[in-house]
Amino acid sequence: MQHNGTPPRFGFLIDMDGVVYRGPELIPGADRFVGQLREREIPFLFLTNNSQRTRRDVVARLVRMGLDVEEEHVFTSAMATARFLAQQKPGGTAYVIGEGGLLTALHQYGYAVVDHDPDYVVVGEGRTFNLEMVEAAVRMILGGAKLIATNMDPNCPTQNGLRPGCGAMVAMLETATGVKAFSVGKPSPVMMRAARKELGLSTDETTMIGDTMETDILGGVQLGFHTVLVLSGGTRPDDLPRYAYRPEVVTESLADLAELMDRHDWRPPWHPAPVGRNGRTPATV
Ligand SMILES: [Mg+2]
Repeated sequence: MQHNGTPPRFGFLIDMDGVVYRGPELIPGADRFVGQLREREIPFLFLTNNSQRTRRDVVARLVRMGLDVEEEHVFTSAMATARFLAQQKPGGTAYVIGEGGLLTALHQYGYAVVDHDPDYVVVGEGRTFNLEMVEAAVRMILGGAKLIATNMDPNCPTQNGLRPGCGAMVAMLETATGVKAFSVGKPSPVMMRAARKELGLSTDETTMIGDTMETDILGGVQLGFHTVLVLSGGTRPDDLPRYAYRPEVVTESLADLAELMDRHDWRPPWHPAPVGRNGRTPATV
């Protein structure tokens, strides 16, 4: 059923790694799911804790995999971090351990990247990490710079197994200085709420789809979003009893979720129709 030009009052925040792709491989059905969202004008945003790539880099990668997406569909922890710092201290300075995505985002939000006496030490993922940078960062933090992490993911899946994540690098700085980092990425409400606002939806209209309990599902649960766990990434059904919180829906992959949505005419079955003041749904008012 078409929506007669009225935008549907629900939308999706979608994790990428383990949901849309694994390494260089598209997870089968992800393209169909995204195609349906576009066709039906259902708002969505890809949400990644990886701060290495710019929005444009992420889009280029997704398009190469066959997805029909644009820059407005991508929200990274680098963007969330830069926006957060610009609100906290406009026009500040940062010493950055990270790469293009983070540097670009900070510049876009009016930050200068410096080597001495910064307001913040900001850590993201990258392959340039070395002990000289760690030593410089430790001295800056002990000298009063605030420690900001784009995310605290302990590791990231790659084609050849796991690589250390941003959280592992941040832990080194925390241990050396005795200072705890403030983290902006999922499950932090700073990023989750910013992404929801970017979608232009309310809490109850927002569904988080992810493969990781500690970030995607925890963040979604804490913010009061609807949550869908896909098993195409790092989580097995046997893992679920270990957690004190659970997703509302568990599916094998986005392909299975597309089938579920198909059966409900592309209204999320877990999303009750909002009830208007007169007891009818807005769609019938
Ligand atoms: Mg993931």
